[in-house]
Amino acid sequence: MTDFNATKEMFHLPEGMIYLDGNSLGPLPKAAPAKMAEVMEKEWGDYLITGWNKAGWMARPTAIGNRIARLIGAEENHVMVGDTLSIKVYQAVAAAMSLQHAKGGAAAARKVILSDSGNFPSDLYMAEGLIKTLDRDGTLGLELRVVAPEEVADNLTDEVAVMMITEVDYRTGRKHDMAALTAKAHANGIVAVWDLAHSAGAVPVDLAGCQAGFAVGCTYKYLNGGPGAPAFIYVNPAHADVAEPALSGWLGHDAPFAFEQNYRAGPGVERMRVGTPPVLANAALAAALDVWDMTDMQDVRARSIELCELFIKEVEARCPMLELASPRDADQRGSQVSFRFHEGYAAMQAVIARGVIGDFRAPDIMRFGFTPLYVTPEEVVKAAEIIEDVMVNALWDTPEYKVRNRVT
Ligand SMILES: *Cc1c(COP(=O)(O)O)cnc(C)c1O
Repeated sequence: MTDFNATKEMFHLPEGMIYLDGNSLGPLPKAAPAKMAEVMEKEWGDYLITGWNKAGWMARPTAIGNRIARLIGAEENHVMVGDTLSIKVYQAVAAAMSLQHAKGGAAAARKVILSDSGNFPSDLYMAEGLIKTLDRDGTLGLELRVVAPEEVADNLTDEVAVMMITEVDYRTGRKHDMAALTAKAHANGIVAVWDLAHSAGAVPVDLAGCQAGFAVGCTYKYLNGGPGAPAFIYVNPAHADVAEPALSGWLGHDAPFAFEQNYRAGPGVERMRVGTPPVLANAALAAALDVWDMTDMQDVRARSIELCELFIKEVEARCPMLELASPRDADQRGSQVSFRFHEGYAAMQAVIARGVIGDFRAPDIMRFGFTPLYVTPEEVVKAAEIIEDVMVNALWDTPEYKVRNRVT
């Protein structure tokens, strides 16, 4: 059994703050500053360039990938960390497209990247950019097709080369059935690419079990790796040695230090490296993963459902003006709960000013993330009381809460 009192103790959480935004940026693991200081002072400071070998900086992205693999049901040595999620989305979709192309015949003639309107814009933008790169003048007829989330299954046709889906919707928390969609994609000759941005550390994921082609995700949300922490990419063992890296940087080369003139992809997921790994950021992420070593994802899921159900019950009983925007059925929801309100931005500012941190997503979504590692049922009830005060007394209705910040 995971001891959630023990995991909560591992985080620095400001006194009096109820943090319901770990779905956007996880809190600081208490061990991270010392860990980073050690890497800075001892490794960078004393080892300098020899740190790459002596401190094992170059091997760390693979080692960290293996620690994340356990949380997302991936096979060992098939997850690599580095870059940002947007870049990993591009890599995964490009590699998936190239797999279809390599098959030739009807597979190579498939022109559609299928996604849904609940996907995060950056994923859609990256797919658009990839299509422009592959098909500059439109002669290939490549197309990004975006359908409603509930229509994905019916659109897995023989025109589709790649299905690019984010499992849990960043706005509403609606969760796709990953196993069913992947199975249907495969049955129709489609390569499945999953974005686990709101899944890793939030819900159990079984990549190996559902045989997903590729998966990507970030480590600064539920995994608590810190602002700008590196992303991860998973490549199915069946594709790992054949997937073509579109971003063919030197560290994904088979022999980076041979400095050959031409690119030869490295073995397996190593080829998904691009350039120099972020050694300092990896140190903070490793400290965050020490906390994850104390957990079992089934326990995390059970507690997450408990917290979300409690929040929905408490808020609905107190705030009739808020409309639930998340699925009511826990099986169809990730680890967040969203409510719609016409003045959602101002209302969230007022709630934040009273110590409950959630966030706002346009046009009208008030979003709250539930992270069992450090959020307790008592805090959920307290948060609902504060939200009730703000809503019932219209405390949001003042000019200062209506001025939009750059980051919402
Ligand atoms: C958070 C998130 C991103 C952000 O990408 P970055 O490159 O890390 O800024 C992308 N896609 C999804 C689905 C996300 O939830």
